[in-house]
Amino acid sequence: MVTLAVLVVGLAVAVLLGTPWRPLAAVGDGAAVDPAIDFTAAQMAREDAYHSAVRPPAYASLVLSIAVALLLGLSPLGARLIGAVAAPLGGGWGWRVLLGGIAVTAVGRLVALPLDAWAESVRRRYGLSTQTWGTWLVDVGKAYGVGLVITLIVLFGLFALVRWSPQWWWAWGAVAGALLVVVVSFAYPVVIEPVFNKFTSMESGPLRTSLLEMADRDGVPARDVLVADASRRTTALNAYVSGFGATRRIVVYDTLLDKAEPAEVRLVVAHELGHAKNRDVLWGTLLGALGIATVVCVLAFALKSDWLLRRAGVDSIGDARAIALVLALVAVIVALSGPVQVLVSRRVETRADVHALELTRDPTTFVEMQRRLSVTNLSDLDPPALVFGLFSTHPTGPQRIALARDWARLRGVAPPPGLAP
Ligand SMILES: [Zn+2]
Repeated sequence: MVTLAVLVVGLAVAVLLGTPWRPLAAVGDGAAVDPAIDFTAAQMAREDAYHSAVRPPAYASLVLSIAVALLLGLSPLGARLIGAVAAPLGGGWGWRVLLGGIAVTAVGRLVALPLDAWAESVRRRYGLSTQTWGTWLVDVGKAYGVGLVITLIVLFGLFALVRWSPQWWWAWGAVAGALLVVVVSFAYPVVIEPVFNKFTSMESGPLRTSLLEMADRDGVPARDVLVADASRRTTALNAYVSGFGATRRIVVYDTLLDKAEPAEVRLVVAHELGHAKNRDVLWGTLLGALGIATVVCVLAFALKSDWLLRRAGVDSIGDARAIALVLALVAVIVALSGPVQVLVSRRVETRADVHALELTRDPTTFVEMQRRLSVTNLSDLDPPALVFGLFSTHPTGPQRIALARDWARLRGVAPPPGLAP
């Protein structure tokens, strides 16, 4: 209990102090956030129609996955399922974790699959997805497989610790969970990303040279810029930074190189350099490690509850059939922590945008780039407040454009004119 309190306070302090709450100094009232300044009525209508079509299946899938996890974990159904799949092999705890873990996660996945297919059909109708049903299913399978491997490692570790040290499993679990987050985040670019995409060095030429020169000037020397074959999956434009230390890499989508002007690519990479310079991936990983340690302590606290255990049809956490309860509690904690995570993410993204503006001093191209990203990716230009608060990891396109106009005003540069005719 004391450990839990210390971790919660530590996490809160780290988030409060480590988050760039105001990445840009205030400039009066700030530029107006209004999609109509830079987007045509047709562009706004198309984005609106897309979100009206894709939201029902996407959110239904999310809600259904959580509901299934709760149903299996907070009733004896999950324990019965786990007992049944492990019974033919003797029902030892190892088989219960392995086969039970597969069964519980597979049920959740399969129930949501039709809704995911529906959402994919909407993406295809709007030209966002370039996949066939075959490649889509392979992707679903790969994502499930990667998630399953990580889940099973965690569950095996958890139940092995419970058996080895019934009193102190949570303390060892908190430390091991935190270490696992650091290891997975470090290895992610070289172990997990290649499961989904091929990466090649960006072709040499003036653009590559100018990007590496910009990174040098920024004090974030990069050996390489990698290109992901994202076009096999999507028409959307994107770039990202992943890993840290020896695995840190800057990746741009091949779609971006294909469709955006070189000056816009520079702006996108300047944003990613902002993430690299501020070590956002490393900081996010450390917060994640602290977060997981907290989750383990919350679990230990919850799993002492006879009421919860009885509901789940088990006597104690020593019974490996309790994995359904563990997965249900994790689903609840993940859902509850989501809004805080995206709030912090939006601030970090704004800081990277300010960095891109400082580095390029080119707010006009920044605005053009934001408009192209929003239009091509069918981004929501004006999401409902609840949707924004729960799910948006980035500020909206119009918010990012208003930031560029604020930055221009603050630095005495001519503010970019509106782009809508
Ligand atoms: Zn970013």
